[in-house]
Amino acid sequence: MADVAPRIVVAGSANMDLVGIAARLPLPGETVLGDDFMMTPGGKGANQAIAAARAGGSCTFLGAIGSDAFGVTVKARLNASGVDTSNMRTSYGSSGVAVIMVDHAGENSIMVSPGANSTFAGLSAAETTVIAEGDVLLCQQEIPVETVLAASRAAREGGTRTILNAAPARHLPPELLAVVDLLVVNESEAEAITGSAEPRMAELLALVPRVVLTLSGKGSWYADRDGADERIPAFEVDVVDTTAAGDAFTGALAVAWGEGRDMIDAIRWANAAGAACVRKVGASNALPSRADIDAIYARG
Ligand code: ADP
Repeated sequence: MADVAPRIVVAGSANMDLVGIAARLPLPGETVLGDDFMMTPGGKGANQAIAAARAGGSCTFLGAIGSDAFGVTVKARLNASGVDTSNMRTSYGSSGVAVIMVDHAGENSIMVSPGANSTFAGLSAAETTVIAEGDVLLCQQEIPVETVLAASRAAREGGTRTILNAAPARHLPPELLAVVDLLVVNESEAEAITGSAEPRMAELLALVPRVVLTLSGKGSWYADRDGADERIPAFEVDVVDTTAAGDAFTGALAVAWGEGRDMIDAIRWANAAGAACVRKVGASNALPSRADIDAIYARG
């Protein structure tokens, strides 16, 4: 581990995932009997904050929970994972909730109610300071785009590097792209941005200076405006559940980049984090520790 843990600031969403499992998904207007139920803190922001903390980062989460019991549980989960929540907001009303139905074939239907996440707007002086004092700011797209823009601008002014994980795919305004140092997208997000099913790195590089395209079981592809263009293969593992692989990858990448590792090596290490995650069932509970990541990375 580096002598001083890099300071990772995640500005993003926090949700409670309510997961019901049934033999089949209900049709509109229909009720089916389920056979299992789980409640797990989630949201891409919270998941990536937990991923970064477990990977060895000194991680601060900026975002909003509601005034309900879900918010209390989500906050406890972040704290138990070593994430600093002292600047997290509580807004009166519902926390973000994802209602997820899964059938026995693994097919799902998901409804996300953003709740408090949509109230995360207008950065305070304290939030701006936290961002400016960080090594890496990590954002996703489950909070208002104006907040992602404000956070990224605060990072640029403070000399903090910004990673944007453009998930879920949404419109990316040019003024936001102008302050992003590294874009991380999977294949479907790249398709939504470029309008092409064939990954078009050149089009992505026209938007931002550095791009990581994650390719699931095929690893990752890195390219930048200085001419780097490299595929970094995935680590072979027994795949059990690919949920949250992207969150594990992105959180670990923020830590490795914050530690000053060379980008290709940082991506290899993040690939190890993604591989460690897919060996376990679940989302935030499947996010790997630094030791888990190192063990897979050491395979070479
Ligand atoms: P997302 O979850 O955002 O769709 P990916 O599926 O591309 O993201 O996964 C992120 C990273 O996790 C990949 O770049 C890869 O390093 C790792 N990963 C994902 N699936 C596998 C797999 N089946 N085997 C090994 N590594 C994987």
